[in-house]
Formats: sequence, C-alpha cells, structure tokens
Amino acid sequence: MDGSRIVADMAASDVSQRFSRRRKTVLVAGGAGFLGSHLCESLLSDGHSVVCLDNLQTGRMQNVAPLLSNPRFHFLRHDVIHPLDWSGRLDEIYNLACPASPPLYQRDPIHTFRTCIDGALNLLGVARATGARILMASTSEVYGDPEIPLQSEDYRGAVNTTGPRACYDEGKRAAETLFWEFGAHQGVEVRIARIFNTYGPRMRPDDGRVVSNFIVQALTGADVTIYGQGTQTRSFCYVDDLVAGLRRLMASGYSQPVNLGNPGEFTMRELAAMVLHQTGAASRLVCCPLPVDDPRQRRPDITRARQLLGWEPKVPLEQGIARTIRHFASELGVPVRHAAF
Ligand code: NAD
Ligand code: UDP
Repeated sequence: MDGSRIVADMAASDVSQRFSRRRKTVLVAGGAGFLGSHLCESLLSDGHSVVCLDNLQTGRMQNVAPLLSNPRFHFLRHDVIHPLDWSGRLDEIYNLACPASPPLYQRDPIHTFRTCIDGALNLLGVARATGARILMASTSEVYGDPEIPLQSEDYRGAVNTTGPRACYDEGKRAAETLFWEFGAHQGVEVRIARIFNTYGPRMRPDDGRVVSNFIVQALTGADVTIYGQGTQTRSFCYVDDLVAGLRRLMASGYSQPVNLGNPGEFTMRELAAMVLHQTGAASRLVCCPLPVDDPRQRRPDITRARQLLGWEPKVPLEQGIARTIRHFASELGVPVRHAAF
C-alpha cells in the first residue's frame, strides 16, 4: 500500500488545495465501501481525479488498496457528520457515505441517522460552496414495506418512524428532502438515486446482507439462514450495472428521484437455491426469526431510468451470483466444488 496517497492526517483544506490545480475532481463519500470502491475505480478509469472520503466504519482499505498507487486517487479519512473544510475546486460529489446493511446500520442508530442528515447537510454545503453537482445514494427503503408489487418513484411508501429500520429509512427520506430543498432553493444541482438491493464482489463476508450471508454460508458448509419463511422478495442488481446507472444519472439533467435496480424479483428461498446449486454446497436451510419491519416485497419500476438515462441492468442474477461466489471463494481461500459453477 502506498502510504503517500493516504491523507488521513492532512486537513481537508490541504487536500482541496492540492486538487484545485487539476482539471476535474470528483469527491466520493463512502468511497471505501462496497459500491463506493467500484465507483472510484470506474471514475479513475475514465481519467477523472478522485477523492475518496470515508470514516471506514463499514468500508475497508483493502477495497481501494489497488487504487492507492494512482496519482489521481487520494484517500481522506473523515466522518461526514462533521463539517468538511473544502475550499478548492470540485466538479462532482457522490454521497454514498452510510452503512447499508441492516445489522450494521442498526448498531449505532443515532449515528446512522446523523450520517444521513448531517452528512447530507455538510456535503450539500460543500456543493453549494464549490458549485459541484451532487448525487445522493438514496434507497428503495424510502418505500418501506411497500403495499404495491411494483414501486415507481411516485409511490409515497409505507415506513415505520419508530422501528429498528427507521434510523436508515427515515434518515434517507429526510436526506432526500434536504437534497430537494437545496436543489429548489439554494441553486445546487442535485441528483437522487433510489438504489434497490445491489450485490457483488467486495461486499464484506460479515456484512450481514442476504447475498453475502448465503454465499459465505454455502462456501463454508454452514447452515443457510432463511429469515421468516423465505417467501419475501427482493430484486438484486449487479454492482457494475448500478455504477453505470449512478454515472448516467449524475451526467443527466434530472433532479427528481430515479429508481436504479434490477426488476427481476426473487424470493429468498429462490436465491438460496441458486447459491446452493452454483456452489454445490450441502448446507441445510434453517429458518430464523423474521426481523421486525422486514419488507415483504420489493421490485423497482425503472421506466424513468430507461426513458431519461437510457439505462437498464444487463447482468442476470445467475451470472452476477457466479461472479460474486468466485470473489468470496478467493477472499475466503476456499475451493468451489460444483462442476456447473
Ligand atoms: P457499505 O457499507 O459497503 O459502504 C458505505 C461506506 O460509507 C463505507 O465505506 C463506510 O465506511 C462509509 N461511511 C459510513 N458512515 C460514514 C460516515 N458517517 N462518514 C464517512 N463515511 C461513512 O455500503 P454500500 O452497499 O456500498 O452502500 C453505499 C451507499 O449506497 C449507502 O449510502 C447506502 O445507503 C446506499 N445503498 C446501497 C444499497 C445496496 O444494496 N448496496 C441499496 C440502497 C442504497
Ligand atoms: N435475509 C435472510 N437471511 C439472511 C439475511 C437476510 O433471509 O441471512 C433476508 C432478510 O430478512 C430480507 C432479505 O433477506 O428479507 C434481504 O435482506 P438484506 O439485509 O440483504 O437487505 P434488505 O432487507 O435491506 O433489503
């Protein structure tokens, strides 16, 4: 790892001065996380300079380790609940800073709520000061436990303000409001991506979300944990598709929320069966208690993204799961036994 690129101990103003001489700079808050690290990589590969800002709460330096030798990449350790002293030039800000896994965002709910709200306010302030366009990683959780099978952006949602998911769901809803206000009344160019369940390489093995849980359990011969009856549904988008959607949205002229996700809908039992088939694992399926307020169904209507961005996902679940299994097998150092895989 090239320590010269880590600017954790440097003031943000020093970093911003360094970048003010460059032609184009993108700040990725949450850039050391699962989605953020893929986004940083994509931006760098197109010639942009990237400042990856992260407090490493759920992100990992290993996600961005290969990027540290790139002179156009810098890492800044910072918590977005605190103001960011940035005085140099910035062209774009992606705000991905927030734990996304339910068990992880529920560990410190007040901090999660502050990350959503104070983080949005602080980064919107930087956008206003620099003139940067800013994109928020919102979520399908703004629809809560949806009462309709296909969720379009016009659906107002069914969210519990006081349950264990509220710190995240309501935090993201309030952050959308802040983005909308700064867009409507403060002259900031805002973009709002409502991201549906996304998976792929660089999720943490101990992340707690369903795709990483099932794959790690199958690869290690542990029981596969089905929460509830496993009849609840999710729609899973492969990370490369999602990053392409985020970048198209940023480049668009559209400031209202846009759903980004893969409309293919699967029950958790169907997902478990696919993982077991692809890994050839003999793991048992065990039923565990369904978490409180666990949404029963989720499927994005992506008409808006198709029409406005010309975007739709390309990677089918079978293919994305296979790539993700290969990643986890390599990270965990376990062989994959099944011939079909
Ligand atoms: P992740 O946990 O892997 O990444 C989040 C990153 O933000 C981590 O690197 C973490 O250390 C950092 N972070 C958290 N709190 C921070 C703070 N206060 N200050 C600075 N950095 C902080 O999760 P992810 O799956 O990569 O999600 C990225 C973003 O996308 C999140 O905002 C999440 O809400 C949103 N999102 C993700 C999904 C998904 O399925 N992956 C779905 C909907 C929305
Ligand atoms: N889930 C499961 N087993 C697990 C982890 C999660 O059955 O080991 C279920 C969970 O109850 C939910 C779905 O999988 O219904 C997706 O969970 P995840 O935490 O990945 O995302 P979210 O609930 O935020 O969509």
